[in-house]
Amino acid sequence: MRRPIVAGNWKLNGTLDDAEELVVALKNLVKDVEKVDIIIAPPFTVLSIISALLIGTNIKLAAQNMYFENSGAYTGEVSPVMLKDVGCEYVILGHSERRGYFAETSDIVNKKIKSAFANDLTPIMCIGESLEQREADLTFNVIETQLKEGLGGLENELAKNVIVAYEPIWAIGTGKTATKEQAQEVHAFIRGKLNDFFGKDVANAVRILYGGSVKPENVDELMSQKDIDGSLVGGASLKAESFARIVKFQ
Ligand code: PEP
Repeated sequence: MRRPIVAGNWKLNGTLDDAEELVVALKNLVKDVEKVDIIIAPPFTVLSIISALLIGTNIKLAAQNMYFENSGAYTGEVSPVMLKDVGCEYVILGHSERRGYFAETSDIVNKKIKSAFANDLTPIMCIGESLEQREADLTFNVIETQLKEGLGGLENELAKNVIVAYEPIWAIGTGKTATKEQAQEVHAFIRGKLNDFFGKDVANAVRILYGGSVKPENVDELMSQKDIDGSLVGGASLKAESFARIVKFQ
């Protein structure tokens, strides 16, 4: 049995006041949820204040990115040591917006994943194909390559703790969700590849999240699929009520 995860990616949104208001409302709405790991990933600038607000709650803290070095002359970057220090337990890595706008390659993502583990942070590794790649029938090739390169060189003990987020780029922020059949097909493929790369125990343990316009209206059918273990939510995580409803999927 894999414990479900619902993670909210706030992206580039949230002043101190917005963040505090959202977290106070969310804490209250999800306080009775016991069977789901609830994670929020606010921007770096509000991590510290949110970390304090989350003490004693069932909501865990993630960052949206990090650099792979622990410290040094890397102006503008944030390290895993700093994320741990501020109370993060998870970090989103390789989001398609980072790969697309900030030229992050799978090699960089792989270094970040190893560095996250070395610092006791659980990585949420995002993978997913573009519309052009899907239309050219390249979805499985892209997913296999991103998975193999992103997780290359990991020991099984670590690999089983990775969280994979399948996020078709054409479904992110577009309002266009993959159908439950489309999502399940790719999730099953990912689990199959994890089995090829690391064996059955890792494949059965890894939690695979779906991301791409998840909302209260579509979460239940997505979560009914055998290989969908949770969701990574962008837009709908910015409203306490909609995120709470996604957390309380049926
Ligand atoms: C995301 O950015 O990870 C995401 C899934 O965004 P949205 O839910 O807005 O499509």
